[in-house]
Amino acid sequence: MFGKVLIANRGEIALRIQRACRELGIKTVVVHSEADREAKYVKLADESVCIGPAPSGQSYLNVPAIISAAEVTDAQAIHPGYGFLSENADFAERVESSGFVFIGPRPETIRLMGDKVSAKDAMKAAGVPCVPGSDGALPEDPKEILRIAKAVGYPVIIKAAGGGGGRGMRVVHTEAALLNAVTMTRTEAGSAFGNPTVYMEKYLENPRHVEIQVLSDSFKNAVYLGERDCSMQRRHQKIIEEAPAPGIAARHIARIGERCADACRRINYRGAGTFEFLYENGEFYFIEMNTRIQVEHPVTEMITGVDLVQEQIRVAAGEKLRFKQRDLAFRGHAVECRINAEDPFTFVPSPGKISFYHPPGGPGIRVDSHIYQGYTVPPHYDSMVAKVIAYGDTREQAIRRMRIALSEMSVEGIKTNIALHQELMQDARFVEGGTSIHYLEQKLAAKGEVKKGG
Ligand code: ADP
Repeated sequence: MFGKVLIANRGEIALRIQRACRELGIKTVVVHSEADREAKYVKLADESVCIGPAPSGQSYLNVPAIISAAEVTDAQAIHPGYGFLSENADFAERVESSGFVFIGPRPETIRLMGDKVSAKDAMKAAGVPCVPGSDGALPEDPKEILRIAKAVGYPVIIKAAGGGGGRGMRVVHTEAALLNAVTMTRTEAGSAFGNPTVYMEKYLENPRHVEIQVLSDSFKNAVYLGERDCSMQRRHQKIIEEAPAPGIAARHIARIGERCADACRRINYRGAGTFEFLYENGEFYFIEMNTRIQVEHPVTEMITGVDLVQEQIRVAAGEKLRFKQRDLAFRGHAVECRINAEDPFTFVPSPGKISFYHPPGGPGIRVDSHIYQGYTVPPHYDSMVAKVIAYGDTREQAIRRMRIALSEMSVEGIKTNIALHQELMQDARFVEGGTSIHYLEQKLAAKGEVKKGG
């Protein structure tokens, strides 16, 4: 096992990784920007290194500074967390060529899955069902593009091969709008992602977002750890996640889960990963793979009892997976609410000093957060400040516990979206389960109309 791990991230996930390391008896180095110098988790680390000023381009994305921090502190491995450099194949390569272990998949796997066209090709070859669409990248020939769209059937969605974070996509409803949309997406993709390649998919009108968690070692052992439903989204950003996905039969999950584990063996996957699917009319359609730990990993940990971050570290250290598929059981239900520092209704970010903080607790409640009373939420980064996870024997119990937790929680001095979560936990359609990825935006739009009208 490693003696010392460098954590190349910030906020709650930096603390989460630190806790996993502690439990494994590993010393930690946390790198941080000038804006995060005073954070408690930075002080809790065995060592900390300031790697630059607040803007992430000069700190959390500063590869040479991170590598030299690992060198001066004698760390053996680097955990990238999520976001920042976690899915950057060049970074993973630099880490390994500098003599450190990258806690994640091999650089070539990150590269393969980072290009959505090559990722889809690999998944098709592994028998994972994909959204119907163009076979690979769209050609230049306009006639050919029109022909492909006709065959796929409108509406279609044009997506950038290098896209991410919900950007670089355009929905097209009519033939008349197609060619212009392709040109615009290409241009945008070229400047935003440095890769103008685009592809086409059938636009699914009312899908749910259901994803499969996997874990593999370097010896071609791979398991799936069930699914998560992350359909409650705004602008493609997830805000509530749960496991299992309401109303999808366990045998259906097992079938798709097996395919994902199989795909991991084929591509020699190493570490934790997520296969994201759209789910509509009882069918799964692969859209992309995330080659890292995800924000929503705790709901899977709650229903499986597996510590995903510790397993990531063990596998990176060269250990064999400690369990087989038959050793895994899914028990109970977990719901996660992402608490963001933002206005609950206008969504305007609300950084600043937390004047009072009272976290919730009690049976089945887990809070993953780095904040405390007196902490200042910096304006430079993502607005997520806490994740509240509620576990219960049933979905009903998990939701009931979440309602209590949200009513206990208080964060003052900044605005948070707790009020929105409270509303959603009472929402009849959410409580019923199985809402689509458009539900939240439709609900918010309807509320806006009522407000305007009244
Ligand atoms: P990103 O890497 O930017 O997150 P994804 O391919 O995962 O891109 O897609 C992000 C979101 O866009 C999905 O969760 C879904 O809401 C929507 N989306 C993507 N592809 C389709 C599609 N074929 N049909 C309908 N919605 C889609």
